[in-house]
Amino acid sequence: MRIDMVSEHASPLAVLGGADAGGQNVHVAALSAALARRGAEVVVHTRRDDPDLPTSVAAPGVTVQHVDAGPAEPIPKDELLPHMDEFAQRLWESFSADPPDVVHGHFWMSGRAALAAARPLGIPVVQTFHALGVVKRRHQGTRDTSPPTRLREEATVAREADRIVATCSDEVFELVGMGADLRRVAVVPCGVDLDLFRPEGPTAPRPDARFRLLVVSRLVERKGIGNVITAMAKLPQAELVVAGGPPAAELGADPEVRRLTALAERLGVAGRVRLLGQVGRAELPALYRSADLVVCVPWYEPFGIVPLEAMACGVPVVATAVGGLVDTVVDGVTGVHVPPRQPGMVADAVAGLLADPERRAALGAAGARRARRRYGWDRIARSTLEVYAGLPAGVVRGPASAVGRSGGMGGPAGGPGGAVDNREHPDSGSATLPLRGASQREVGFAHAPTRQSKRGHR
Ligand code: UDP
Repeated sequence: MRIDMVSEHASPLAVLGGADAGGQNVHVAALSAALARRGAEVVVHTRRDDPDLPTSVAAPGVTVQHVDAGPAEPIPKDELLPHMDEFAQRLWESFSADPPDVVHGHFWMSGRAALAAARPLGIPVVQTFHALGVVKRRHQGTRDTSPPTRLREEATVAREADRIVATCSDEVFELVGMGADLRRVAVVPCGVDLDLFRPEGPTAPRPDARFRLLVVSRLVERKGIGNVITAMAKLPQAELVVAGGPPAAELGADPEVRRLTALAERLGVAGRVRLLGQVGRAELPALYRSADLVVCVPWYEPFGIVPLEAMACGVPVVATAVGGLVDTVVDGVTGVHVPPRQPGMVADAVAGLLADPERRAALGAAGARRARRRYGWDRIARSTLEVYAGLPAGVVRGPASAVGRSGGMGGPAGGPGGAVDNREHPDSGSATLPLRGASQREVGFAHAPTRQSKRGHR
């Protein structure tokens, strides 16, 4: 089976931790690698943002194609829309010359381009949104920098795609509210690299006897890092380590770093808060294992791979009960849920767990079991293949639909609605697979040229 992934801004080759490079990059890289291990041939199309990038970068089973669309330089993803018709045109040329069996779009603009390019050729389109504009607008209001047409166009993608892969149950409600046909929605969560993130292994050094709280996150306000810093005022027995953002040497120039540092100083906790900047994948597991707790308290979160990484390392998680964290972190079993934007409740939950080492150990062990049983990328790839296999037969290589290549997606979806397809709810089933994690490292991406995306707010 040939699967073409479309991930317009999030390259599987990108350096992670920057403001615009996070879970989607990990997802596309790891899912592609895991699909390749199951015998699929995968091509990932992503926009060229550097003139020096080769046209294609190949690893076993996975090829990354850099698509010329707009200037070959980093562009914030909220400013990419004007280049998406050109992106779709390039995709159409590629699909016409060498048609895949399935096109899988990631993020709304990729879905828009995927539909515009694939539907006229009768190639089925599966869509994963990763984040929804309607949720972002709800939380960010006038500060939302998304293109004004996002909500309308995203809803069109939700109605037109042959299948939607939602990454959590909360997303399903949003999708139905946008007009998606529930029968075309499957829930397949993101996964975690279980080879890399495991409870056993070296532990990053700790300078003193204080408890260690760890945040791993892009430095954007909605990730709630400010709430954790505020909670630190009530947690004198703990230090807070924050991984993410620009490389350490560039931290001083980052406006969010300045905001967080000023907050820590104002609250008198700056001496116990350390911002590390971007931490490489290889160093992250030891850092996770060095923590007593991982705190992940975003205001909203489409999925959130960080709690899975923490759980896979056997570390309990204090998480807000939002988005994907409702499914992944089981309250009282693998961590503790708190409401968003409530630093006092974060402090109380953390203090309770710090005072109870046995409970922490039990939550950590349960998290590691849950990650291993449910979230290995091979299991996620198998579920994704089931979604592809469930595409209505009439869609595959069927007649062209009325969807135009220039982004006019008013035509009918190319195929009948299928049977109920949400068979991979994260809380259903528990099949254990021979596990082998996926990462850029494993598929050989570590040696390929990397990219650093520009700032943005998701
Ligand atoms: N990450 C990383 N280094 C950093 C900060 C983050 O490798 O310094 C990774 C993190 O381990 C996780 C991803 O970036 O795999 C963040 O994904 P998540 O879904 O939690 O959040 P997103 O960034 O997509 O909002």
